[in-house]
Amino acid sequence: MVHFYVLTLFPDMVMDGLNTSVIGRAIQNGIIDIEAVNIRDYTTNKHKKVDDYPYGGGAGMVMQAQPIYDAYMSIVNRIGKRPRTIYLTPQGSVFKQSLAKEFALEEDLIFLCGHYEGVDERVLEEIVTDYVSIGDYVLTGGELPAMVMVDAISRMVPGVLTNQESGETESFYNYLLEYPQYSRPEEWNGKKVPQVLLSGHHKNIAAWRLEQSIERTKEHRPDLYEKYLEQED
Ligand code: SAM
Repeated sequence: MVHFYVLTLFPDMVMDGLNTSVIGRAIQNGIIDIEAVNIRDYTTNKHKKVDDYPYGGGAGMVMQAQPIYDAYMSIVNRIGKRPRTIYLTPQGSVFKQSLAKEFALEEDLIFLCGHYEGVDERVLEEIVTDYVSIGDYVLTGGELPAMVMVDAISRMVPGVLTNQESGETESFYNYLLEYPQYSRPEEWNGKKVPQVLLSGHHKNIAAWRLEQSIERTKEHRPDLYEKYLEQED
């Protein structure tokens, strides 16, 4: 069981985005648990403000330390420990499948979603253990990155995927991209499903899929293919 806590100014966005399909089913089945904590509920400002101008000037607003820290501490006091706490930021190390697997071993994870120009550095120093980016581009807020991470981590938690959905042949498993997939009908728009997949010969199908995976990885992700070769040595 992994408990995900998402510190955010937009809790509905997070819950609406995650409470469907495979992840929604895992929540229903009690395999994972997701709680979006509204940072605004913890501000001591009488106008419910959570941001202010940056010292030194510059564009935009900065999320203040106090409401974030108090929202974080409300979780820490409740669960009696300081779990790994991830700040979603374009300045972090880029999220990968290997990190999803690592985080899936934790019992509790806190995600901090920034907004506007970012977050007061002092609260980051106080609570954050991991700085993670989902790619080299800048988004409006940390909510989408947190949802991306919760989704990818959840899929690595035992019991979230059924056997049929198993992650073992998916892209990035063993540093290879997945082979192409086909479903009915056998012919669509003049294009036929590769004959080998209709043969029922499991060994040949497995060999064809591996070959396709290798070709795809070589072409689309030469960096990953290098790792595959290293690991094969
Ligand atoms: N001024 C910040 C900078 O240049 O590093 C960017 C702030 S961004 C507009 C607002 C928030 O979105 C960030 O605090 C972060 O939480 C989130 N964010 C934006 N892009 C992201 C990315 N690629 N990965 C993870 N989080 C991101």
